[in-house]
Amino acid sequence: MGEMIEIFCKECDYKKGCSLDVGMKYSSVENVLELVHPSCWKEIKDIFHNHEVLVQDASHTLFRCVKCNALYVRLYVKIHYQTTDGKKRTYETHHLCSKCQTELTPVDVVEERDEDDYGGEQEKLAPLVEQLPCPKCAKKSLATQTTG
Ligand SMILES: [Zn+2]
Ligand SMILES: [Zn+2]
Repeated sequence: MGEMIEIFCKECDYKKGCSLDVGMKYSSVENVLELVHPSCWKEIKDIFHNHEVLVQDASHTLFRCVKCNALYVRLYVKIHYQTTDGKKRTYETHHLCSKCQTELTPVDVVEERDEDDYGGEQEKLAPLVEQLPCPKCAKKSLATQTTG
């Protein structure tokens, strides 16, 4: 633990440090509520108090802006729940690009994997990042390395 993952570009000087917990999953959304933007608290609390939560997922995830290619690490919260009248709904956190206000897309689409496949955070992030255009030079030349 305590490792940093750095996303860098092989073609230009773009660099972004992602701390510690990219890809880290939390056991409960309620445990990480304080990390969620306060504007979402009411809605999330309402779900837990009024509905039956089926599946909940909270993790720090890499997001990208499809418009300007900016990359962000944000807390991603997804709750599948069933309302009292039996309807199934999904709640997801939404984040906006701080540069152009476009809604961000999670790069790490939550995917179930066997524990055996899990090769650590950098290994998980690397193939995702390699698909993305560099936020600065737009070439697909991003890579990751662990530092620290
Ligand atoms: Zn943007
Ligand atoms: Zn670049």
